[in-house]
Amino acid sequence: MFDTALIFGIASSIALIAGISLSIRNAARIGTILSAIAFAFAVKNFENSFIQAALFFFAPPLLAALSSYSAEQIKSMINLSSSFEIERKGIIEEIRRQVIESKKRKELIDTQTSIFEYLNNLSYRFGFCKNTEDVKNEIINGAKKILNCSDVGIIEFDYLNTSKNELSKCFEDISLPCRRNMKDGRYAIVAVLLRGELCGGKKYLLYAVRESKWTNMELRLLFTLSEIGSTAFQSAIFYEKIEEEAVHDALTGLATRRAIEKIISKELALSRRAERLLAVSILDIDRFKKVNDTWGHEAGDDILCKFGNAIKNFIENREEVKGRIEAGRYGGEEFIIICRESDSTYLASIIDMLRETVKNSISKPDGTPLMFSAGVCEFPLHGSNMNELFLNADKALYHAKASGRDRVRICAS
Ligand code: GH3
Ligand code: MG
Ligand code: MG
Repeated sequence: MFDTALIFGIASSIALIAGISLSIRNAARIGTILSAIAFAFAVKNFENSFIQAALFFFAPPLLAALSSYSAEQIKSMINLSSSFEIERKGIIEEIRRQVIESKKRKELIDTQTSIFEYLNNLSYRFGFCKNTEDVKNEIINGAKKILNCSDVGIIEFDYLNTSKNELSKCFEDISLPCRRNMKDGRYAIVAVLLRGELCGGKKYLLYAVRESKWTNMELRLLFTLSEIGSTAFQSAIFYEKIEEEAVHDALTGLATRRAIEKIISKELALSRRAERLLAVSILDIDRFKKVNDTWGHEAGDDILCKFGNAIKNFIENREEVKGRIEAGRYGGEEFIIICRESDSTYLASIIDMLRETVKNSISKPDGTPLMFSAGVCEFPLHGSNMNELFLNADKALYHAKASGRDRVRICAS
C-alpha cells in the first residue's frame, strides 16, 4: 500500500514540478491535489508516528510554495484524503472479516452436512444389526467419529438390583455431564441410552469423553445419537430375546425341538461326510399324565424343569461324553439326546446311567422316584436320515414301555 502511495506521490510531484516549470496553472493544481492525496496515503500508512508528524508538518508549506494553493487549503486536502483512506481501510477490513466468517460458516455447514449424512446412514445401518453387540459398536464408532471423542463406551447395569454406592463406583471418573470431572482433566458426559422393564430392569448408559469442552451443538448431537441408538438397541434386545426363545425351551432350558432338529441334521451331514456313527435316543417320562392329574399342572411343570436340569448337569459333568452329546426337549414329556461318534450300545449305557441318576435325585410330590423309559438307535445302521432314526428310536421306546417302563431299549437291527 505504501509503495502505491509512494509511486502515486512521485508521479504527482513530477506532474506538479512539470506544471510549475511549464507555467501550466491547471497541471500544477492537479499535481498539488494528487500530491496531497499521496501524502495522505503516506501519512496514514507510515507506522512510525515521528515520520507521520514530519510529513504532515512539512508537506503543506512545501506544496503551498510550489502551487497556487494556500497551506490551509492543502492541509484540508490532506485531511480529506486521509479520512477517505481511513474509510477505505475500514471497508477492506470489513470485507476481509466477512470473507473469513463466510469461510468459517461454509466449513460449519460442510461439517454439519457430513454429520447429518452420517446419522442418516447410521439409522440405515442399525437396520442390519442383529444383536446388541453390533448396535453398541455402531453407537460407539458414531460418537468417536462425529464428536471426536477419545473414549466412548456403554455401561450396562441392573438398576433394579444395584445400590447407589455400587453405581457410583462404576462412575468414579464419569459422573456429571459437561464437567471437567476426569482426574486427567478431560471432559465426560453420560447419556441414558435405555432403561426400564423392557430390557429386563437393566439400564444402559452411553458415556463419552473428550479432550475439550462440550459445546451445546455437540451435546445435542450426542443425545440425538443416543436417541436413535436406543431404538435400535431396543429392537436388538427383542431380537435376541426372540432368538433365545426359539433356541431354548423356557421350561427346561434345553434346546427346543426346532433347535435340536437343526443340530441333528448338521451332525448327520458331518457324520455322513466323515463316515462316522451318530447315536440318537428318545426319552419319555413314565406315567407323567398321572403327575398332572394327581398334583396339578404346576407340579408337572416343576418336575419337567427338574428333569431338564438333571439332563443338563449330567451331560455337562460326564467327562467321557463332554462335547459329544446334545440334548433337547422334543415336546411334552419327551426328550432327545444324541451322541456323536458313538454307537447305540454306548449311548444306551450313558442313558441308563442318567436313568439311575434321575431315579435317585427327582421324586414326585408323594416321594416316589421319577422314572423314564428310552429308545436308542444309530446312524447309519438304523436309519439314513432324521425321520428314519426318530421312527426307529420311537419303536425302541415303545418296547421299553411295553416291557415294564423304567428301562432303555436299543432298536432291533
Ligand atoms: P407313559 O408312561 O406311557 O409315557 O404315560 P404318560 O402318562 O407319561 O403319557 P401320556 O402321553 O399319556 O401323557 C403325557 C402327559 O404329559 C400328557 C400331558 O398333559 C403332559 N404334558 C405335556 N406337556 C406338558 C407340560 O408342558 N407341562 C405339564 N405339566 N404337562 C405336560
Ligand atoms: Mg409321551
Ligand atoms: Mg410319558
